Amino acid sequence: NEQFVLANRPKGTPDDNTFRLEEISKKDPSANEVMIKPLYISVDPYMRGRMSDAESYIAPFEVDQPLHGHVVGEVLASKADGFAEGDYVVGIMPWQRYITITTDNIQKVQDANVPLHLYLSTLGMTGQTAYHGLLKIGQPQSGETVVVSAASGAVGSVVGQIAKIKGAKVVGIAGGTEKVTYLKDTLGFDAAVDYKSDDFEKSLEEAVPNGVDVYFENVGGKISDAVFKHLNTFSRIPVCGTISNYNDVEQDIGPRIQPILIKNQALMQGFVVANYSDDFQEAGQTLAEWVKDGKIHTEVSVEEGFENLPKAFNNLFEGKNLGKQVVKI
Ligand code: NDP
Repeated sequence: NEQFVLANRPKGTPDDNTFRLEEISKKDPSANEVMIKPLYISVDPYMRGRMSDAESYIAPFEVDQPLHGHVVGEVLASKADGFAEGDYVVGIMPWQRYITITTDNIQKVQDANVPLHLYLSTLGMTGQTAYHGLLKIGQPQSGETVVVSAASGAVGSVVGQIAKIKGAKVVGIAGGTEKVTYLKDTLGFDAAVDYKSDDFEKSLEEAVPNGVDVYFENVGGKISDAVFKHLNTFSRIPVCGTISNYNDVEQDIGPRIQPILIKNQALMQGFVVANYSDDFQEAGQTLAEWVKDGKIHTEVSVEEGFENLPKAFNNLFEGKNLGKQVVKI
């Protein structure tokens, strides 16, 4: 058996010094435990925050201890009520080839007849993030303009598609012409803008002739500064993440936002998906219906092999993923 531990807290971009692969022994389950073989392991930007020891909404990873993240896997052996060999489960688990844990924080997948990696994306944590952030804070109305950044990623792609379902005009911001084409042609966004192009600000202005009613914030930094110039009166800004500065060593400071919020009487609210756990089941059912009806398309970027977890993680910060980044074991 093997596991990845946090070898050192990264300064800047995580590298070979950040992760260490270790041999460990396989453990048969004791009472209330199951042994799980991961099929897909999720890598998520929020894990970068856990690699730091700065105070946050979730405890830091400990140095020399395994990293943890969402895993979908198969039960190989069970000493826990309600779980049997062959069951497919999802939950937050350590980065190990064979995982022996109690069942407190794992659940059986709702439907094993869909591609199982969906439980790490649209039918899992990132889908829930898009759903609650957009619908509870963003509250898009039919005909309004919704802008979403990191639009071709796991959260952003679902935000845009839900906004379309709600009748909004959707503009995605992403890096590179390939992603822009994907957003328009495959996901049906009304417009998409490449923030890496020289005329980003001009293209954005042209894409939002009626201003911005909802800005779903995934990246922060200069991209957001550009969007804020187009906010409408009573616009809403769910602040989901600011991935553009997760690897920063020095604090990123931009224009002061308060005058813009006052002028537009805009609402800006940070949120953490776990806070909506009471509504996960209901949202999960709605998301599953949308997936079944073909209203939400999910792209998945797969790295093959347990040993490639660090590489897959860094893909997120290099924009190498389209849709949800996972590792297939
Ligand atoms: P994604 O699948 O969107 O992957 C990350 C994407 O971010 C990349 O593909 C890349 O796309 C973009 N990106 C990376 N670096 C930069 C940069 N410097 N500037 C602009 N874009 C960049 O990840 P997720 O969907 O999992 O996460 C999206 C956001 O949602 C993150 O900020 C994450 O922290 C947040 N989040 C928050 C949660 C919460 O509860 N609040 C829960 C889950 C996620 P591109 O090629 O377009 O640059």
